Amino acid sequence: YTKKYKTNQYTVYSEELDQQSADRLVIERELKSAITKQEMVLYYQPITDLKSGQLSAMEALIRWNHPELGLVPPDRFIPVSEETGQIVSIGRWVLHTACTQNKAWQDQGYPPIKICVNISTIQLQQLNFVQTVKAILEETGLNAKWLELEVTESILLVDTDLLKCSLQSLKELGVSMSIDDFGTGYTSLSYLRQFSFDRVKIDRSFVEDISTDLNGKAITASIISLAHQLNMTVVAEGIEDIAQLTFLQCQQCDEGQGYYFGRPLPAELHDLNTRFKK
Ligand code: C2E
Ligand code: MG
Ligand code: MG
Ligand code: MG
Repeated sequence: YTKKYKTNQYTVYSEELDQQSADRLVIERELKSAITKQEMVLYYQPITDLKSGQLSAMEALIRWNHPELGLVPPDRFIPVSEETGQIVSIGRWVLHTACTQNKAWQDQGYPPIKICVNISTIQLQQLNFVQTVKAILEETGLNAKWLELEVTESILLVDTDLLKCSLQSLKELGVSMSIDDFGTGYTSLSYLRQFSFDRVKIDRSFVEDISTDLNGKAITASIISLAHQLNMTVVAEGIEDIAQLTFLQCQQCDEGQGYYFGRPLPAELHDLNTRFKK
């Protein structure tokens, strides 16, 4: 009886795995034509200056609008695209589209803001990454100071001369760099500083904890304070309510992002006239 039970369990487990690898194969196959079929879209989420209440940046967040799979969130296809290398062309499309959009907002007469673009560690390790960024800025006419690249802490596990050289060249180009989801990896802020990052984005999980436990408050406050001592600015991710916002303001957090200020939306659905009047 025990044996049969175990066998059954094994069967269930393996069917789940089969399903997962089948999904993965579909995603991998469909991704090949996603860009040429114009199935990718960028959503933009506001980042707000917590002192003035002014809009200071927008983060570009990719969505995949597939005719059968529906609106696929990035967590379902970015990891696959990183494994297959497809992230390189997807990432180039994201950069180009985001810079084009930011330039368009400026040309429409809105006060200039930064566009924040998520960059995969795989992209940043490409030999020609800096060249690609430079070419995109030239093609789109966007000034480098309005572009910020977000990378996760995992980049710091890649301790190569190429990476150091690329980060240095990006800095010389005038692009700013931020560390995304800070606190979820194992790096220290002082280590980050050596790599000349300008900003730290505190991961949403800590902001969530602000309202629920005391540790969340202590951790968030100390990240902000240490980042400031190291001359980095701080953005808090995932602000959903006024209690979190008030706490972050009291701790001198520089900027905030989250559903409290606005959800990610396609460019045409943003009412920038109201956003800029605030
Ligand atoms: P991320 O860069 O940390 O982006 C923030 C994520 O938090 C977004 O999820 C956003 O929709 C969500 N979010 C923002 N405010 C709130 C809030 O108040 N509450 C909650 N619960 N969530 C909030 P999204 O758009 O699903 O993106 C997930 C991740 O996928 C991103 O995390 C980023 O790591 C990755 N990603 C998105 N777009 C790109 C891209 O173009 N390239 C690369 N390489 N990765 C991307
Ligand atoms: Mg991000
Ligand atoms: Mg993040
Ligand atoms: Mg995140």
